[in-house]
Amino acid sequence: MSTKKNYGFATKAIHAGEEPDYRKGASGDVVVPIHLSTTFARKDVTDPTGGYEYTRSLNPTRKALETKLASLENAAYGLAFTSGLAAESTVLLSLLKSGDHIVAFEDLYGGTKRLFNNVFQKLEYGVSYVDATDPTEVEKAITPATKLVWIETPSNPLLKISDIKAIAEISHKHHLILVVDNTFLSPYFQKPLNLGADIVVHSSTKYIGGHSDVLGGAVLVNDPVYYEKIQYNQNAVGAVLPPFDSYLTLRGIKTLAVRLEQHQKNALEVAHYLENHPKVKKVIYPGLESHPQHALAKVQTTGFGGVLSFELKGTLEDAKAFLKKLNVFALAESLGGVESLIELPSLMTHSSVAKEVRDKIGITDTLIRVSVGIEDIHDLIADLKQALE
Ligand SMILES: *Cc1c(COP(=O)(O)O)cnc(C)c1O
Repeated sequence: MSTKKNYGFATKAIHAGEEPDYRKGASGDVVVPIHLSTTFARKDVTDPTGGYEYTRSLNPTRKALETKLASLENAAYGLAFTSGLAAESTVLLSLLKSGDHIVAFEDLYGGTKRLFNNVFQKLEYGVSYVDATDPTEVEKAITPATKLVWIETPSNPLLKISDIKAIAEISHKHHLILVVDNTFLSPYFQKPLNLGADIVVHSSTKYIGGHSDVLGGAVLVNDPVYYEKIQYNQNAVGAVLPPFDSYLTLRGIKTLAVRLEQHQKNALEVAHYLENHPKVKKVIYPGLESHPQHALAKVQTTGFGGVLSFELKGTLEDAKAFLKKLNVFALAESLGGVESLIELPSLMTHSSVAKEVRDKIGITDTLIRVSVGIEDIHDLIADLKQALE
């Protein structure tokens, strides 16, 4: 079934990559086993059993996950890594070399910017950051050395949206590779490859895993040349997702569709509640009509996700006091798990961004980011209500 693309998303999330083995002597597991063996025996020197030799190169549990992820993104190939940043590093090492240049969205995940600025710039990869919500800004930053464009949409924590199709057209006109970080919406709500992107990267730590209990990353690609280069380095560098973590991620994915529907439903209710609260200055959520790119979100995605940000009226101290009073929302970084998480970007996820830059782009002292979980909505609203009072 993994090769058939005409099944619905939820069906593929449950079955792709986990075809029961009915051959004589096999056990017909409906869930792929956790293959812990690091090495695989063969009868004949030149004939590795089932193509398996050594777990870093290929492991049956990881392969099941890679097949499932590819199926969900409508990709020809999938690769699973130990973390989102390991996936990103392997893409950069595989496709670029010293002297090459990247045009990147200025609003990227902090860890991705750290990777570009503090690791790859030392290897003489050049990077220019632009406001990718305006595709012409991307085009303006392209130089003869540019090889790759890197965007993330919606962005974090300001939920800015970039037009994937328009940026793919610009990238291809200049023979560049477009990479889209699809962590915030997951393939359930957004399929960048269908919109013209060349490579999708994920932190599967977030919605794909979905339970805040397993770190992971993924790369999805259609072009066999890019695939071969990245797959070569997946093995050569070795940041592969372990079998047990692959199993946990496979298990998480099975409920991706129902989880994301509920995340979105709860997020919209929380957004409406906060938008009408006198102590809230503004709410940023792509599902609200008030979001400046609501129209683009509606055509580019099939949903708005579960993350929103809002600005409290008052001071940093008011924001801290509000966060301290919450009982159901956990004050924590990360996102995408079933539990509701809340955080203050200026002092937590984005504290390494200079205050002038934060103020300029809108990460004020009272901006709060929420990853709305799938608890009972009345408990979430009641918790916000008592903390705002
Ligand atoms: C968390 C995150 C990453 C990094 O992933 P890790 O699994 O933490 O390495 C990359 N991009 C986005 C958008 C993220 O939220």
